[in-house]
Amino acid sequence: MPSYVIPDKCDGCKALDKTACQYICPNDLMVLDKGKMKAYNQEPEMCWECYSCVKICPVQAIEVRGYADFVPMGANVTPMRSTDSIMWTVKFRNGILKRFKFPIRTTEEGKAQPSGGYATAHADLNSEVLAQEPEALNMNEVYTIK
Ligand code: SF4
Ligand code: SF4
Repeated sequence: MPSYVIPDKCDGCKALDKTACQYICPNDLMVLDKGKMKAYNQEPEMCWECYSCVKICPVQAIEVRGYADFVPMGANVTPMRSTDSIMWTVKFRNGILKRFKFPIRTTEEGKAQPSGGYATAHADLNSEVLAQEPEALNMNEVYTIK
């Protein structure tokens, strides 16, 4: 089931220029009703159920039904992020609550190097070699069709 916003919880990200759910959705599905200051999924059938909006919403106003491969049908799943971990709270149909906490990073926040220390661009845009190759493959050369 696609994401849906619980109107009573959504505060429209306090009227920021772009809401957190709009910023994160890879499909640009989330929109803000500026009159009501509530977000909603404008095209639910296009939702991947990727949980990105659920995880980023600062007030836990978005829900996606948990997939049956990680919680039983009918359970409610709420993630809560901190700077170094994420806590998943699962509420089962019979009311039992379980919490699972997982680390989400090994590098301190703000210290990650997107390029991993390798050069970020290749001089020749027509080259078949990808960024960071061949160094990241521990090779001297990537063999391509000449
Ligand atoms: S991120 Fe949450 S609080 Fe912010 S607009 Fe979206 S649903 Fe509302
Ligand atoms: S679950 Fe993923 S695809 Fe669906 S609205 Fe949220 S961020 Fe977009």
